[in-house]
Amino acid sequence: MTSTPTSSPTVEPLRAAGAVAFSTLRGCADPSGPYDGFSVCDYTGDAPAHIAACRDAVADMLGLDSAESLILPRQTHTANVAIVDSSDAGRPLTDIDALVTADASVAIGVNTADCVPIVLSDKEAGVIAVVHSGWRGTVARIAANAVDRMTSLGAAPENIVAAMGPSICADCFEVGEEVAREFAQAFPDVDGVIVGGYAKPHVNLGAAIEATLRECGVKACNIYVPSRCSRCECHRFFSARRLGAHSGRTLTVARLQR
Ligand SMILES: [Zn+2]
Repeated sequence: MTSTPTSSPTVEPLRAAGAVAFSTLRGCADPSGPYDGFSVCDYTGDAPAHIAACRDAVADMLGLDSAESLILPRQTHTANVAIVDSSDAGRPLTDIDALVTADASVAIGVNTADCVPIVLSDKEAGVIAVVHSGWRGTVARIAANAVDRMTSLGAAPENIVAAMGPSICADCFEVGEEVAREFAQAFPDVDGVIVGGYAKPHVNLGAAIEATLRECGVKACNIYVPSRCSRCECHRFFSARRLGAHSGRTLTVARLQR
C-alpha cells in the first residue's frame, strides 16, 4: 500500500536565487515499498489516485491555481528542452527532459530516481529551468541545452545559479565498460568524472554536469553539486537502483518568485 499524503510533502530546499525550488522527500512508512511515499510521476506504474493526491498537495504548497499549472514532461532520457508557459498547462510534453520558463504563474518539475535533477535560475532575467540529467542526458550535455534556451529568453550564463538535487553518488554509481567509455569520450579533459579504485568503473555525474555548466559560462561559485545520494538515502528519496524502475520518483520543482 502507498501512503496518501494528507498534508504538504516534506522537502529538501535547493539554492536557486530568484526561485522557490526544492526536491520532495518520500515521507514513507515502508522504505522497501516501491511506491511508498510522495510521488507525482504518472508513467512508472503508480496508482492514478495516489499521483493525483500528491500533485494537488504540491500545487497547494506552491500556491498554484491548479495542479495542471505544475508542468511536468514525459521524460525519455533525451537532451530535448522545451520552453513553456501557462498555455502549456495540462498539455502533454513528450520526449522532453528539461523545461525552461519565464512565467511565474506556473511551476516546472522533473521526476528522478538516481538521475540528477538540476534547477537553474537567472534572478536578473527572471528565467528558470529544470533538467533531468541521467547518464545519457549528461553525456549529451542536456544542461548546456537548457542554458542555451534560457539565454534565448534573456538569461546570461554569468548570472545563472545551478543547484543539483538528490541523486546517485559516485560511490554507488557503478557502470559498465561501455558507459564508462562514453563518459571518457564526452569528458576527456575533466578530472573526477570516471572514479577509480573499484572493481568496475564508477562515474561522478555531478562532476560531469559541473564541467558542462562551466563550459557554458556558469560560474563555479554558482554551481551546487548534489549533497544527498538517493541510493544511500533510499528511505528519504526514491532510488531505481534500490527499488527497480517500477517505483515512485522524487519531484524536483521550481517556480519563479514574484
Ligand atoms: Zn550513494
